[in-house]
Amino acid sequence: MQTVTGVIIRDVQVGDNDKIVSVLTREIGLIDVTCKGAMKITSKSSSSTDLFMFSKLCINQNKNRYYLNSAEPINPFYNIRLDLEKFSLASYFSELIRYSVLPEQPCDIVTRLMLNCLYFLDNGKVEHRMIKPIFEMRFMCELGHLPALLGCHICNTYEADTMYFNLHDGKLTCDECSKVGEITNIVALSPKILDAIRYISLIDYKDLFKIKLSIPDRQKLSEITEEYTRLQLSKSFKTLDFYKSILLQ
Ligand SMILES: [Zn+2]
Repeated sequence: MQTVTGVIIRDVQVGDNDKIVSVLTREIGLIDVTCKGAMKITSKSSSSTDLFMFSKLCINQNKNRYYLNSAEPINPFYNIRLDLEKFSLASYFSELIRYSVLPEQPCDIVTRLMLNCLYFLDNGKVEHRMIKPIFEMRFMCELGHLPALLGCHICNTYEADTMYFNLHDGKLTCDECSKVGEITNIVALSPKILDAIRYISLIDYKDLFKIKLSIPDRQKLSEITEEYTRLQLSKSFKTLDFYKSILLQ
């Protein structure tokens, strides 16, 4: 038997009484845990294995499968489950993680990022529209898709009135160098947006959520980080479509 702490990022009911949960743990990465009897009203561990709960789990391993022995909540993040916008955004983060993170590989930093995002989603101190680009950009960096942010990849210029960001290879081109040759798959970045991408990609975690942007800049940043994520992972996400459909209502 071993004890892990982690956040539940998916739960699937199996039969009448059981469920299987995907847990992003600090200790052993992403794992699936079978919770026997968790759907019974009398189950003690039921609420601790609900979606987006941060819980301490005692688990047994048997033939490469994990089984829940007992569970207790650490932080329930209740407000996320009461708010459809927050819930659907957290679902999008979960889908990104389940698609990109290999099972049972150390991913302490991704767990930390997810927990930080759930924490601020839950307490509302950071707007969910800001948490989205923070998660997307930093998650890409943690997966190894850190853009080449030091400056123009041709002349090393650090800042220009407009820099161009290649969403496929993560390289920057200054406005002067962009006049030479054909450039595709690029977006224009104002100095503020480039600063924001640099900040989110490189800043220490304790300051990650202190970033402040105007609403138009935040929207622009969110479009860029979303497209960067989609292109880097070569995949679209239904949970993102759902989140965006709610924002339109
Ligand atoms: Zn240049």
